[in-house]
Amino acid sequence: MRYSDEIIEEVRSRNDIVDVVGQYVHLQKKGANYFGLCPFHNEKSGSFSVSGHKQMYYCFGCGAGGNVITFLMKYDNLTFQEAVKQLADRAGVKLPDEDNSEAAKAMRDKKQILLDINKEAAKYYYYQLRSPNGQKGMEYFRGRKLSDETMQHFGLGFSNVTSDDLVQHLRKLGYKDAQIIEAGLASHDEKFGTHDKFWNRVMFPIQDASQKVIGFGGRVLGDGKPKYLNSPETPIFDKSRNLFGLNYAKNSRAGYMIICEGYMDVIAMHQAGFTMAVASLGTAFTTGQAMILKRYTDEVILSYDSDEAGTKAALRGIGILKEAGVKGKVLNLKPYKDPDEFIKNEGRDAFEERIRNAESTFFFETRILQEQHDMSDPESKTEFHRQLAKKLCEFEEALERENYIEAVAARYNIAVDDLRRLVASYAAKGGMVKPAERPRSGIQQKRSPEDGARKNQRLLLTWLTDEPNIYPKVSRWVKPEDFSDDLYRNVATKLFMGLENGNFSPAAILDNFTDEEEHRQVAEMFNTNLIDIETKEQRRKAFHDIIVGVRQAGYERQKKELKPDDPEFLNKTIQGKKEMERLLKADISPDD
Ligand SMILES: [Zn+2]
Repeated sequence: MRYSDEIIEEVRSRNDIVDVVGQYVHLQKKGANYFGLCPFHNEKSGSFSVSGHKQMYYCFGCGAGGNVITFLMKYDNLTFQEAVKQLADRAGVKLPDEDNSEAAKAMRDKKQILLDINKEAAKYYYYQLRSPNGQKGMEYFRGRKLSDETMQHFGLGFSNVTSDDLVQHLRKLGYKDAQIIEAGLASHDEKFGTHDKFWNRVMFPIQDASQKVIGFGGRVLGDGKPKYLNSPETPIFDKSRNLFGLNYAKNSRAGYMIICEGYMDVIAMHQAGFTMAVASLGTAFTTGQAMILKRYTDEVILSYDSDEAGTKAALRGIGILKEAGVKGKVLNLKPYKDPDEFIKNEGRDAFEERIRNAESTFFFETRILQEQHDMSDPESKTEFHRQLAKKLCEFEEALERENYIEAVAARYNIAVDDLRRLVASYAAKGGMVKPAERPRSGIQQKRSPEDGARKNQRLLLTWLTDEPNIYPKVSRWVKPEDFSDDLYRNVATKLFMGLENGNFSPAAILDNFTDEEEHRQVAEMFNTNLIDIETKEQRRKAFHDIIVGVRQAGYERQKKELKPDDPEFLNKTIQGKKEMERLLKADISPDD
């Protein structure tokens, strides 16, 4: 359902961004803005700012930004429409009833259509599993000792051996081949036309935190390849930011979460009552997933297979948890391979016991390190001690480091003073701690002259939103056409228009965009500040420089676009040149 601009504007303006964000992030007032710890990247100092004046948020650390609608979209993984709906409910704004006409359907947000297709597919697979066609799938799940209730709870299904029945079914519901392909459920080639992506597989619907089906995992029956097949990334399915089982695990009150390798592990654990289990989605555990877990818990237990690959995955997972600032532990499942097998053989009480005895990630790492060294060989043993000392250097806090030095000395039978000296010598050599790596915003940032021009444009847009009264002085020299890309020009046009008519609202400008990435970029345009401006003279100079910078770049570009056979060519060139000369000499100040 697409809402009118007026409704969106009303919903947005009746939800103050400071109130809404304040429900999720602890904010403190600093000057005109509020600051807190960014919920979208891991940090210790608050670079996440919320402006009541602009009704926008912006993170100076990772560049996340937008208005109150974007915030909810990103925080709760909602579509634009869902975020509007949630905010309307919050503010008591009545939304128009959903329109089911064909025309309205066509207008619906693309993401919503992909969600609808995935939902219909989940229903279809679910039905197939319970029909005669799905007997083989049913036998598989029963063989894995899943109860009917569990199968229903996870919406498990089956894609049968016919290679285009889902496509046929979805076409009947009115969806186009291109949409079905975009939803990741079909492929197209010359030989077979549009055909199902999944067939002869038991199907695991993947739901996001708010229960919507966003993709599937399918396990083949028999020896087909690949054994597990997952939906590709789509506009609604970002593998690095979702976890299987999170929709249920987020409500578990265990105080910790368990991350395991596969769908079957999660399902077996939930069936046994361990509803805090989640799995990454056919890819390695990512920082994005760790940040999502951090919203619900501060302790994550890694439960990977007890083989070499599992150990490697655990070591990697430990690094990711550290980076995200989440406390980690590692579960030992030996002699069994995975949680599913362990629970089947030893029962839930024994599993619970293993959870209680889960090893801290630090001692898991040192144990693996010890296994790689021969303790009967003095040379190898010394090397092991050196490695321990190096690892101990990673603790930033003196007290914590000291506690670990004592624990390690006791565990590995090393004289505590010797170990302390060794740690001190490594610390002196290599610096105490490794700098924490800052998560990337996902966008590659390249530096070019274009970036310099854009920086000036951002500085000017921010200045205009911070001090709207400078507008007449700016518009005397700069026009929206001077802004370089489409997005910048579009935003400048709207801001200039608003300032011209006296209805200034940067957050409303964002309502023209529904894409998160565009919101981020627009938020950046309104949050680029100059630092080190103290005197009035510095302000005057900066103001002049920025206006010259923006106008100059605009002038250069317009000059290139002029055609020499344009009858006005000479006139325009000369006029532009003259105007630049006047601007360079002009005495313009933001203050009077
Ligand atoms: Zn951030």
